[in-house]
Amino acid sequence: MTPDPTLYARENIRTLQPYASARDSVAADANLTLLDANENPFGDGMVNRYPDPVQGELRDAYARIKGVNPEMVVFGNGSDELIDLSIRIFCEPGKDAIVVCPPTFGMYKVSATANNVDVRSVPLMEPDFSLDTAGVMAASKGAKMLFLCSPNSPTGNILNREDMLLLIRTFDGIVAIDEAYIEFTQEESCTSLIAQYPKVIVFQTFSKYWGLAGARVGAVLADSRVADLFRRTKAPYNVNNLSARAALQALGAAEQKEQEKEILLAEREKLAEVLSGLSFVSYVFPSVTNFLYMRTAPGAGERVYSFLFARGIVIRNYGGAVDHLRISVGTPDQNRALTAALNDFSSTLS
Ligand SMILES: *Cc1c(COP(=O)(O)O)cnc(C)c1O
Repeated sequence: MTPDPTLYARENIRTLQPYASARDSVAADANLTLLDANENPFGDGMVNRYPDPVQGELRDAYARIKGVNPEMVVFGNGSDELIDLSIRIFCEPGKDAIVVCPPTFGMYKVSATANNVDVRSVPLMEPDFSLDTAGVMAASKGAKMLFLCSPNSPTGNILNREDMLLLIRTFDGIVAIDEAYIEFTQEESCTSLIAQYPKVIVFQTFSKYWGLAGARVGAVLADSRVADLFRRTKAPYNVNNLSARAALQALGAAEQKEQEKEILLAEREKLAEVLSGLSFVSYVFPSVTNFLYMRTAPGAGERVYSFLFARGIVIRNYGGAVDHLRISVGTPDQNRALTAALNDFSSTLS
């Protein structure tokens, strides 16, 4: 018997009566005369009608591609919304805590803090940004959620599966695994762990591999009982019709997305080589994603950043005690421009 993961949810969420929306029982169907939602009847149905609250068509298509049961999938207005929602579902404000492993995605901490939920940080371990499993286990006592990001941003590495499994087995709470970059890797998704460990929830997104950052569509994949908590707690129409259509079209263009991925991965390798050869770059971390993370000589990060910015090239500067930069892999043309600018910066040093 797997324990019921909904027992980790806040009592008021477990007993929440969801909003009964007009589109719950009947999807907007062109063959129906819909006079139930006070919509404006003039229009073609694409935007004058409310969206499907259970996101059925997109859910079925996504579940098929990801090899999961459709009941396990809920979409949000980006995974940002779902991260926030997960904290609202499981963490009691002013009482509960989450554990995060920096350097990592900043939204876990922002959402926790916005919800008055404590954040305990257990840094990833240098030099490879692996999990400090003993540290996480020590810090996890009484915490409600553990956030793991694999592949991790900004560092670009995948977390060791055995390390994650150890934490999943020992942590008494919800383990949220952010897989925003999973499609760029050969790794198996952690969704395959949900059947055995229903306390695992997985975030994915249309913002990176699928190329729809502007459409704002994220997904949470979870045990169907947990997915039901998300469905009942979210705003009923949180993914709009235009974005759902864009997401469906992207899923239908899987071959094109794979080709784009291959280009980005080949470009990443070229870029990594260029960066490694630069005198002011002390280390380029191995990446399984569509970005590269690097350490520069002390003080160089800020100057490279400003130099590139003046050329109209914007990268991410992490500063800190030692300088770290993150660069997204662009098109071949963009990467050529970046390479030229970096070489120019190099020559200002000699
Ligand atoms: C980009 C990114 C996301 C995606 O967030 P959306 O709200 O879906 O755009 C989530 N997690 C990480 C680690 C990311 O880098």
